[in-house]
Amino acid sequence: PTASSTSGPREVRAPRGSTMQCRGWEQEAALRMLMNNLDPDVAERPDDLVVYGGTGRAARSWEAFDAIVRTLRTMANDETLLVQSGKPVAVFRTHEDAPRVLIANGNLVGRWANWDEFRRLERAGLTMYGQMTAGSWIYIGSQGIVQGTYETFGAVATRHFGGTLEGRLVVTAGLGGMGGAQPLAAAMHGAAILGVDVDASRIMKRIETRYCDRMTYSLDEALAWLGAAQAERRGLSVGLVGNAAEVLPELVRRGITPDVVTDQTSAHDMLVGYVPVGMSLAEAAVLRGSDPAGYIARSTASVVDHVRAMRTMQDRGAIAFDYGNNIRTVAFDAGIDDAFRIPGFVPEYVRPLFCEGKGPFRWVALSGDPADIARTDELVLELFPHDAQLRRWIELARERIAFQGLPARICWLGQGDRARFALALNDLVARGEVSAPIVIGRDHLDTGSVASPFRETEAMRDGSDAIADWAILNALLNVASGASWVSFHHGGGVGIGNSLHAGQVIVADGTDRMRRRLERVLTNDPGIGVARHADAGYDIAIATAAREHIRLPMLER
Ligand code: NAD
Repeated sequence: PTASSTSGPREVRAPRGSTMQCRGWEQEAALRMLMNNLDPDVAERPDDLVVYGGTGRAARSWEAFDAIVRTLRTMANDETLLVQSGKPVAVFRTHEDAPRVLIANGNLVGRWANWDEFRRLERAGLTMYGQMTAGSWIYIGSQGIVQGTYETFGAVATRHFGGTLEGRLVVTAGLGGMGGAQPLAAAMHGAAILGVDVDASRIMKRIETRYCDRMTYSLDEALAWLGAAQAERRGLSVGLVGNAAEVLPELVRRGITPDVVTDQTSAHDMLVGYVPVGMSLAEAAVLRGSDPAGYIARSTASVVDHVRAMRTMQDRGAIAFDYGNNIRTVAFDAGIDDAFRIPGFVPEYVRPLFCEGKGPFRWVALSGDPADIARTDELVLELFPHDAQLRRWIELARERIAFQGLPARICWLGQGDRARFALALNDLVARGEVSAPIVIGRDHLDTGSVASPFRETEAMRDGSDAIADWAILNALLNVASGASWVSFHHGGGVGIGNSLHAGQVIVADGTDRMRRRLERVLTNDPGIGVARHADAGYDIAIATAAREHIRLPMLER
């Protein structure tokens, strides 16, 4: 459907069905997943090859896209394609168990690892920003962020509230691209959640996609709805049109202390991402253009009020955390000395999961048939019947998550379980219970694959936040273990200069050969995450390594 001799924007959708265009399912899978990343139902700006996250691209140019497709269609089963920042640069003879594609995106030597230099090189046509799963061809749409947020709220529930948020009030702000997953994810845990956003259109969008249940301009009305839901221990999300720097202090004045308070306004960018109190969106846009410094002074003053209210709620007993938007730092720099009493969400809630090898594991039905994913949903429930949080996620995801592009599912599985599940998927393919092979991959945001001191590796116990060796070892190990494609990127999530990270994708085609590779990859890939955290001194990781027989020489005697 995409064969075109002129290289330029066009509509791209992955082929469906059980007939290959390529010479092997691994090449076919890479082809379909590249195209799926650019599907108009998946990508944010497909004409520019932008998949998500600012300028995260699937290929450097349409010429490069065409050359990748052409090459994948003709490559033999013992060859490996090399992709350098979204451009196919060479094909080498390797062997059948080697990856079919190796990808390096956006990597720069440390001294040159800044946005200015990156943009200069990008303009010169020499590099591309790959984000995490854009340039590595395993983005599956907004299901990923919903699931990640579900896990975070699930960890909050487990740690503080006996495993559920039923009857609890959660207060947050920012219902944008990522933050818009909060209402659905929290309500899935039974919470009554108030999501404040200054922009009514952002809330409307969440209502349309059923990520948010109700919308109002009145705080009193919102609190009445939420109070009723809390009393009935019923999950409910309410989007309130308002400014967080006004609404949260008002809650404090009224003596209302939520059980949980967090925030996902775009406070990492005080000029574009955070609207000051007392201004309409239109007035904000004018001031932003006419007096940027004045704008930042006003938005910063608002963040101070906002964080002060969060801190007061925390002092009154709320569980507060920073959700990766840097709001603590803005407030701290503006004089709120105790802003960092609000912990970051990774060290607090995600790291304990990483220590067990848990992370965002995902799979995609290459057939394009939703029935195939329905069968795999059943498989998760059959294999892990005792994991109540996982069951809840699968049941609600089936009902609430609309597929974008090829049908896909995501859940967090840990060391041992990922390999078990992958082998069971391969068996499903072998028995013909699904109509085509299944692709298994993950986000680069995972236990052993990322070095990112502002996010995934913030405040490591041994101070190893900026050590990037582990991400490189992860990529090398996935090549050695026989993944179908392996990628190594720079700058995903938190921007150029701030992160280095690796990804792997592997195809379950039902053969014994892939069975052996799946067993190795899905054991070793999370395994290095357990090893990384054990090395940093985390007890849970040390115990997980012992239980799962991961050999750690420095802990042997
Ligand atoms: P976005 O820009 O799409 O959405 C931000 C929203 O905040 C907008 O809807 C905007 O109207 C609203 N907003 C701005 N000022 C406000 C105010 N004063 N009161 C109420 N609402 C206000 O951004 P996004 O993609 O949703 O991401 C939000 C933030 O969360 C970013 O800083 C992002 O980096 C961070 N984030 C971090 C992680 C992580 O660390 N894993 C994950 C997701 C998002």
